[in-house]
Amino acid sequence: MSLVVINAVKKSFGPNEVLRGITTTVDRGDIVTIIGKSGSGKSTLLRCINGLEKPDSGSIHVGGLPVGGSPAELQKLRQNVGMVFQSFNLFPHLTAAENVTLAPLLTRRITKAEAPALAKRLLEQVGLGQKRDAFPSSLSGGQQQRVAIARALAMSPEVMLFDEATSALDPELVGEVLRVMEDLAKEGMTMIAVTHEMAFARKVSSKVIFMHQGEVWESGPPAEVFGAPRTPELQRFVQTPV
Ligand code: ADP
Ligand code: MG
Repeated sequence: MSLVVINAVKKSFGPNEVLRGITTTVDRGDIVTIIGKSGSGKSTLLRCINGLEKPDSGSIHVGGLPVGGSPAELQKLRQNVGMVFQSFNLFPHLTAAENVTLAPLLTRRITKAEAPALAKRLLEQVGLGQKRDAFPSSLSGGQQQRVAIARALAMSPEVMLFDEATSALDPELVGEVLRVMEDLAKEGMTMIAVTHEMAFARKVSSKVIFMHQGEVWESGPPAEVFGAPRTPELQRFVQTPV
Protein backbone atom coordinates (compact mmCIF):
# COMPACT_ATOMS: atom_id res chain seq x y z
CA MET A 1 0.00 0.00 0.00
CA SER A 2 1.18 3.55 -0.72
CA LEU A 3 2.55 5.55 2.21
CA VAL A 4 0.36 8.56 1.45
CA VAL A 5 -3.05 8.09 -0.16
CA ILE A 6 -5.00 11.20 -1.10
CA ASN A 7 -8.51 10.56 -2.35
CA ALA A 8 -10.89 13.15 -3.84
CA VAL A 9 -9.85 15.91 -1.44
CA LYS A 10 -11.84 19.12 -1.67
CA LYS A 11 -11.31 22.28 0.33
CA SER A 12 -12.93 25.69 0.09
CA PHE A 13 -12.33 28.91 1.98
CA GLY A 14 -15.70 30.62 1.84
CA PRO A 15 -16.68 30.80 -1.83
CA ASN A 16 -13.09 30.10 -2.95
CA GLU A 17 -12.77 26.45 -4.00
CA VAL A 18 -9.05 25.91 -3.45
CA LEU A 19 -8.80 22.12 -3.83
CA ARG A 20 -11.24 20.63 -6.34
CA GLY A 21 -10.87 16.92 -5.85
CA ILE A 22 -7.23 15.94 -5.45
CA THR A 23 -6.41 12.25 -5.88
CA THR A 24 -2.85 10.98 -5.81
CA THR A 25 -0.56 8.55 -4.03
CA VAL A 26 2.98 8.70 -2.74
CA ASP A 27 4.95 5.50 -2.29
CA ARG A 28 7.76 4.88 0.18
CA GLY A 29 10.96 6.44 -1.14
CA ASP A 30 9.13 8.63 -3.65
CA ILE A 31 10.28 12.18 -4.21
CA VAL A 32 7.20 14.05 -5.30
CA THR A 33 7.57 17.68 -6.29
CA ILE A 34 4.55 19.92 -6.62
CA ILE A 35 4.78 22.82 -9.02
CA GLY A 36 2.24 25.38 -10.14
CA LYS A 37 1.36 29.04 -10.06
CA SER A 38 0.86 30.98 -6.86
CA GLY A 39 -2.67 30.39 -5.58
CA SER A 40 -3.11 26.99 -7.22
CA GLY A 41 -3.56 25.28 -3.83
CA LYS A 42 -0.12 23.74 -3.27
CA SER A 43 0.31 24.91 0.34
CA THR A 44 -3.27 24.04 1.22
CA LEU A 45 -2.71 20.49 -0.02
CA LEU A 46 0.46 20.09 2.08
CA ARG A 47 -1.33 21.53 5.10
CA CYS A 48 -4.13 19.00 4.63
CA ILE A 49 -1.59 16.16 4.56
CA ASN A 50 -0.29 16.95 8.05
CA GLY A 51 -3.66 17.89 9.47
CA LEU A 52 -3.13 21.67 9.68
CA GLU A 53 -6.18 22.08 7.44
CA LYS A 54 -9.22 19.85 7.34
CA PRO A 55 -10.59 18.87 3.92
CA ASP A 56 -14.31 19.49 3.36
CA SER A 57 -14.57 16.06 1.75
CA GLY A 58 -12.39 13.22 0.58
CA SER A 59 -9.75 11.46 2.64
CA ILE A 60 -6.03 11.35 3.31
CA HIS A 61 -4.18 8.42 4.85
CA VAL A 62 -0.54 8.41 5.92
CA GLY A 63 0.91 5.03 6.78
CA GLY A 64 -2.60 3.62 6.86
CA LEU A 65 -3.82 6.14 9.46
CA PRO A 66 -6.56 8.61 8.53
CA VAL A 67 -5.60 12.28 8.77
CA GLY A 68 -8.27 13.88 10.93
CA GLY A 69 -8.86 10.83 13.05
CA SER A 70 -8.90 10.81 16.84
CA PRO A 71 -6.58 13.16 18.78
CA ALA A 72 -4.29 10.18 19.49
CA GLU A 73 -4.15 9.37 15.78
CA LEU A 74 -3.47 13.02 14.94
CA GLN A 75 -0.57 13.08 17.39
CA LYS A 76 0.86 9.94 15.86
CA LEU A 77 0.41 11.43 12.40
CA ARG A 78 2.25 14.62 13.32
CA GLN A 79 5.21 12.54 14.50
CA ASN A 80 5.14 10.64 11.25
CA VAL A 81 5.06 13.71 9.03
CA GLY A 82 7.88 16.27 9.20
CA MET A 83 7.25 19.70 7.75
CA VAL A 84 9.61 22.46 6.70
CA PHE A 85 8.16 25.87 5.90
CA GLN A 86 9.37 28.82 3.88
CA SER A 87 9.96 30.79 7.09
CA PHE A 88 12.17 28.69 9.32
CA ASN A 89 10.33 29.46 12.59
CA LEU A 90 13.15 28.36 14.87
CA PHE A 91 12.76 29.17 18.56
CA PRO A 92 15.02 32.23 18.93
CA HIS A 93 15.86 31.62 22.59
CA LEU A 94 17.05 28.04 22.00
CA THR A 95 20.34 26.90 20.48
CA ALA A 96 20.44 24.90 17.26
CA ALA A 97 20.83 21.69 19.30
CA GLU A 98 17.95 22.64 21.62
CA ASN A 99 15.71 23.46 18.66
CA VAL A 100 16.41 20.02 17.20
CA THR A 101 15.75 18.03 20.37
CA LEU A 102 12.81 19.97 21.84
CA ALA A 103 10.02 17.90 20.27
CA PRO A 104 11.52 14.45 20.92
CA LEU A 105 12.16 15.51 24.54
CA LEU A 106 8.65 16.87 25.04
CA THR A 107 7.09 13.72 23.62
CA ARG A 108 9.48 11.56 25.67
CA ARG A 109 10.79 9.90 22.58
CA ILE A 110 14.29 10.45 23.95
CA THR A 111 15.71 11.11 27.42
CA LYS A 112 17.64 14.22 28.40
CA ALA A 113 20.82 12.13 28.38
CA GLU A 114 20.22 11.08 24.76
CA ALA A 115 19.58 14.62 23.47
CA PRO A 116 23.19 15.75 22.78
CA ALA A 117 23.99 12.70 20.65
CA LEU A 118 20.79 13.09 18.62
CA ALA A 119 21.46 16.81 18.07
CA LYS A 120 25.03 16.04 17.04
CA ARG A 121 24.02 13.35 14.55
CA LEU A 122 21.25 15.39 12.93
CA LEU A 123 23.17 18.68 12.79
CA GLU A 124 26.13 16.84 11.26
CA GLN A 125 23.74 15.35 8.71
CA VAL A 126 22.78 18.87 7.55
CA GLY A 127 26.38 20.07 7.66
CA LEU A 128 26.11 22.07 10.89
CA GLY A 129 28.01 19.93 13.37
CA GLN A 130 30.00 22.99 14.43
CA LYS A 131 26.91 25.11 15.13
CA ARG A 132 25.26 23.07 17.86
CA ASP A 133 25.49 25.86 20.45
CA ALA A 134 24.70 28.72 18.07
CA PHE A 135 21.49 30.70 18.46
CA PRO A 136 19.34 31.23 15.34
CA SER A 137 20.13 34.97 15.18
CA SER A 138 23.81 34.18 14.61
CA LEU A 139 23.07 31.83 11.70
CA SER A 140 22.50 32.65 8.04
CA GLY A 141 19.10 31.95 6.50
CA GLY A 142 20.47 28.84 4.81
CA GLN A 143 21.90 27.58 8.10
CA GLN A 144 18.64 28.30 9.92
CA GLN A 145 16.69 26.39 7.30
CA ARG A 146 19.08 23.45 7.65
CA VAL A 147 18.49 23.48 11.42
CA ALA A 148 14.75 23.47 10.67
CA ILE A 149 15.25 20.39 8.49
CA ALA A 150 17.24 18.67 11.27
CA ARG A 151 14.46 19.58 13.70
CA ALA A 152 11.85 18.01 11.44
CA LEU A 153 13.98 14.87 11.12
CA ALA A 154 14.32 14.55 14.89
CA MET A 155 10.98 12.80 15.23
CA SER A 156 12.06 10.18 12.65
CA PRO A 157 9.17 10.97 10.31
CA GLU A 158 8.24 8.58 7.52
CA VAL A 159 7.57 11.44 5.15
CA MET A 160 8.90 14.98 4.93
CA LEU A 161 6.88 17.87 3.51
CA PHE A 162 8.68 20.95 2.22
CA ASP A 163 6.71 24.10 1.39
CA GLU A 164 8.96 26.33 -0.71
CA ALA A 165 11.83 25.69 1.68
CA THR A 166 14.21 27.89 -0.29
CA SER A 167 11.91 30.74 -1.35
CA ALA A 168 12.83 33.07 1.52
CA LEU A 169 16.57 32.64 1.03
CA ASP A 170 19.07 34.91 -0.68
CA PRO A 171 20.01 33.28 -4.00
CA GLU A 172 23.51 32.37 -2.84
CA LEU A 173 22.07 30.32 0.07
CA VAL A 174 19.57 28.28 -1.93
CA GLY A 175 22.10 25.67 -3.06
CA GLU A 176 23.15 24.53 0.41
CA VAL A 177 19.53 23.80 1.38
CA LEU A 178 18.76 22.04 -1.91
CA ARG A 179 21.86 19.88 -1.40
CA VAL A 180 20.61 18.76 2.02
CA MET A 181 17.22 17.94 0.48
CA GLU A 182 18.90 16.02 -2.32
CA ASP A 183 21.01 14.04 0.17
CA LEU A 184 17.85 13.14 2.08
CA ALA A 185 16.24 11.99 -1.16
CA LYS A 186 19.25 9.82 -1.97
CA GLU A 187 19.06 8.22 1.46
CA GLY A 188 15.54 7.10 0.63
CA MET A 189 13.47 9.60 2.63
CA THR A 190 9.96 9.94 1.23
CA MET A 191 9.44 13.58 0.34
CA ILE A 192 6.71 15.84 -0.96
CA ALA A 193 8.17 19.20 -1.89
CA VAL A 194 6.43 22.28 -3.21
CA THR A 195 9.15 24.12 -5.07
CA HIS A 196 9.93 26.79 -7.62
CA GLU A 197 13.35 25.27 -8.23
CA MET A 198 12.67 23.63 -11.57
CA ALA A 199 16.20 22.26 -12.00
CA PHE A 200 15.87 20.55 -8.61
CA ALA A 201 12.43 19.16 -9.48
CA ARG A 202 13.70 17.85 -12.78
CA LYS A 203 16.75 16.21 -11.25
CA VAL A 204 15.42 14.72 -8.01
CA SER A 205 11.73 13.88 -8.50
CA SER A 206 10.30 10.46 -9.04
CA LYS A 207 7.01 12.21 -9.80
CA VAL A 208 6.12 15.81 -10.59
CA ILE A 209 2.63 17.13 -9.93
CA PHE A 210 1.55 20.28 -11.75
CA MET A 211 -1.31 21.90 -9.89
CA HIS A 212 -3.60 24.34 -11.65
CA GLN A 213 -6.70 25.95 -10.12
CA GLY A 214 -6.94 23.38 -7.34
CA GLU A 215 -6.53 20.33 -9.54
CA VAL A 216 -3.76 17.90 -10.39
CA TRP A 217 -3.60 19.18 -13.97
CA GLU A 218 -0.75 16.91 -15.08
CA SER A 219 1.56 14.55 -13.27
CA GLY A 220 4.24 12.09 -14.20
CA PRO A 221 7.97 11.50 -14.31
CA PRO A 222 10.01 14.71 -14.67
CA ALA A 223 11.15 13.92 -18.20
CA GLU A 224 7.50 13.76 -19.26
CA VAL A 225 6.20 16.74 -17.31
CA PHE A 226 9.05 19.06 -18.28
CA GLY A 227 9.96 17.50 -21.62
CA ALA A 228 6.55 16.84 -23.10
CA PRO A 229 3.86 18.90 -21.34
CA ARG A 230 0.47 18.00 -22.79
CA THR A 231 -1.68 20.96 -21.76
CA PRO A 232 -1.26 24.61 -22.77
CA GLU A 233 -1.30 25.54 -19.06
CA LEU A 234 1.74 23.40 -18.26
CA GLN A 235 3.47 24.38 -21.51
CA ARG A 236 3.15 28.01 -20.46
CA PHE A 237 4.24 27.30 -16.88
CA VAL A 238 7.33 25.38 -17.95
CA GLN A 239 8.38 28.36 -20.07
CA THR A 240 7.69 30.95 -17.33
CA PRO A 241 7.31 29.29 -13.94
CA VAL A 242 5.67 31.96 -11.79
P1 ADP B 1 -0.25 28.16 -3.32
O1 ADP B 1 0.52 27.55 -2.20
O2 ADP B 1 -0.31 27.29 -4.54
O3 ADP B 1 0.23 29.54 -3.66
P2 ADP B 1 -2.41 28.27 -1.41
O4 ADP B 1 -2.79 26.89 -1.09
O5 ADP B 1 -1.56 29.01 -0.44
O6 ADP B 1 -1.76 28.31 -2.87
O7 ADP B 1 -3.68 29.16 -1.63
C1 ADP B 1 -4.69 28.84 -2.56
C2 ADP B 1 -5.85 29.79 -2.38
O8 ADP B 1 -6.41 29.59 -1.10
C3 ADP B 1 -5.46 31.26 -2.45
O9 ADP B 1 -6.48 31.93 -3.14
C4 ADP B 1 -5.43 31.67 -1.00
O10 ADP B 1 -5.74 33.02 -0.85
C5 ADP B 1 -6.50 30.80 -0.38
N1 ADP B 1 -6.25 30.47 1.04
C6 ADP B 1 -5.24 29.71 1.51
N2 ADP B 1 -5.30 29.60 2.85
C7 ADP B 1 -6.40 30.31 3.24
C8 ADP B 1 -7.02 30.57 4.50
N3 ADP B 1 -6.53 30.06 5.63
N4 ADP B 1 -8.12 31.34 4.51
C9 ADP B 1 -8.64 31.84 3.36
N5 ADP B 1 -8.11 31.63 2.14
C10 ADP B 1 -7.01 30.88 2.07
MG1 MG C 1 2.17 28.20 -1.15
